[in-house]
Parts: sequence; structure tokens; C-alpha cells
Amino acid sequence: MKLRIAGLARESVVDGPGIRFAVFTQGCRRNCPGCHNPTTHDLTGGELVDCATLTAEILRNLHLDGVTLTGGEPFLQAAACAALLGPIRQAGLHIIAYSGFTWEELCTQPDALPLLCQLDVLVDGPYRADLRSPELPFRGSRNQRIINLPFRDVVQLSTNHLRKL
Ligand code: SF4
Repeated sequence: MKLRIAGLARESVVDGPGIRFAVFTQGCRRNCPGCHNPTTHDLTGGELVDCATLTAEILRNLHLDGVTLTGGEPFLQAAACAALLGPIRQAGLHIIAYSGFTWEELCTQPDALPLLCQLDVLVDGPYRADLRSPELPFRGSRNQRIINLPFRDVVQLSTNHLRKL
């Protein structure tokens, strides 16, 4: 499976706690005024990478504490992101994803649930320049929430339930 990316930060210390491999996915439809990553918006930009190859590269770095998906909008490529993260989750690395969608919006999208199941933390909501707050750790504006997802099993149950509908 292929993932369209804008770039990689192989040992980032600004995209979450610890040393993290940050994946900047390519493509976002929101055009939030003041977005810091406008070059990630083009749905056909960036480059396609093989998920298994990228997973293997991440797992080779034994210094990493975790992986962060950011963008762009990772949930526009939820299946590919979930494929990328599956073995990483099994290896025990901590996983964060940023999304311009809110948690509530993502929970109504069956396609999003396999990716939600892989996450430890979701940072949700679009960047809002009117709520900009530079002092917030790991967020750009006050509407964005850092949501711990300790209930991945519950999310998995929801996924299974939705598949039966
Ligand atoms: S959701 Fe994120 S990447 Fe997309 S336009 Fe808004 S701030 Fe930029």
C-alpha cells in the first residue's frame, strides 16, 4: 500500500514527547487561514512511498520513542496510515496523530476507525488563527485538544459494530 507524504522528520523533538519519527502526510482540503504547512495541501503533491518500506525504516531506529502523523490531513489516507502503523504499534512505540477533524467527526467516519485504533493520542480540530496560542504544547490554537485514547479496545468494538450496520 502507498502513502502520499510531504516529508519526513526522522528524529524530531518538537512533534510530541521524546524522540519521534514524524510523517507529514500530503493533502488537506481545509485551507485554514494561517496554516503553517500550506505546501501539504495539494492532494496530488508530495511523493508516494511504500508503507511497508517506511515502517521498516522506522523500526530500524532503536532510539525512537514514538511516531507522529501530521500533515496535511492524515485521515484522508486513513487506510494507508493504519497499514503503516500496525507493526509500529505492535513494537510498542507511542503513536500520535494530528487531524483537522474533531474526535466527534472522526467517530462518525467508518473509514477513520482503523486508524483511530492505532493511536495513543489524537490532537484534533483545525488550526484557528483567532484562537492562536503559541504557549500551548504541541498545539497551535486553543480549540485543538490533546485526547488520550486509552480505550482503543472500545474503538475497535465500535469499528466492528459499524461494519455490521
Ligand atoms: S487542517 Fe491542518 S494542514 Fe489542513 S489547512 Fe488546517 S492547519 Fe493546515
